Amino acid sequence: MNFLAIPVPIPVALAIVALIGYVFGRRTSQLTVLGSGSSSRDLRRAQLVAAELEKIAEELRQALVGHHTSVTKFRERVGKLNGNQQEAAWKDLCREAEDILKPTLRLAAQLSNAHDEIRRQSVNLMTFTEVRTDPLTGVNNRRGLDETLGTQLALMNRYGSRFSMAMFDIDHFKQINDGQGHLYGDQMLTQLARLMDETVRETDVVARYGGEEFMVIMPETDLIGAATFADRLRAIIGKEMPLTISGGVAEALDGDTQESLFARADAALYGAKAAGRNCVFRHNGDGAEMVDPEIAVV
Ligand code: GH3
Ligand code: MG
Ligand code: MG
Repeated sequence: MNFLAIPVPIPVALAIVALIGYVFGRRTSQLTVLGSGSSSRDLRRAQLVAAELEKIAEELRQALVGHHTSVTKFRERVGKLNGNQQEAAWKDLCREAEDILKPTLRLAAQLSNAHDEIRRQSVNLMTFTEVRTDPLTGVNNRRGLDETLGTQLALMNRYGSRFSMAMFDIDHFKQINDGQGHLYGDQMLTQLARLMDETVRETDVVARYGGEEFMVIMPETDLIGAATFADRLRAIIGKEMPLTISGGVAEALDGDTQESLFARADAALYGAKAAGRNCVFRHNGDGAEMVDPEIAVV
């Protein structure tokens, strides 16, 4: 192969390496700032990008290995022709070949480093997602939920941005498991999580925080809005699935901790269970009351 016929011109290759570094630098810093507040969809997208970039870097590396080989061959050929020619002229040619080789080797080293860095970032992304994801349903697990709540509370304390949470629990799930088997129960959990994930806004965060208990965190949503959404979700689940859920809603208030907010949502959920299930209660800080199911539009 003639080295001049290298498939990727060096400036283009360098530009791609620079772009890879830029994209990953941005991605990493965003992940650090946002924590689990960014949705799992976002992370899945980032993983795809990582895989693509890794492929590009590998292709470039292969191309440069080819380049290196052809330049080396050129040098060997020149070396063999030394016999009848003037010594100095051939030495010049050899030096020229060396000069061609040097930047190529530098670029190959840069690419190799970029490749290693991309691989490292991919592993980081994978680990980041894995430790925050519930393996059965693919939504956030308890850790992802805790970090999202931490971020939302910090945003509220610093910027006054409000948010609400809705806690859901499947009604009589033990009976479903006992009657139709644990595997069927697991399928119901997966389907429920998918329906929730499809129904919430892009900015909302869905989490499975217990066996058959789910949570939706709704940034920039007040109690009334969150309660309306929660009851609509309850009605959708009741229509689409062979089970019902109950919900408890609370809005974060000044001075709230994760525990105090959780406790209000939990008290509201308890109210919904006590009222006969398949309904949503909201807690306004003083007490819990049922959300009028008639306002739900499915
Ligand atoms: P309630 O309406 O009061 O919530 O009744 P319940 O039967 O749903 O509540 P309870 O807390 O008594 O039972 C929860 C059940 O959820 C117990 C267990 O059978 C089931 N469960 C918990 N985790 C899982 C899981 O990962 N997979 C499956 N299939 N079932 C689970
Ligand atoms: Mg439960
Ligand atoms: Mg239950």
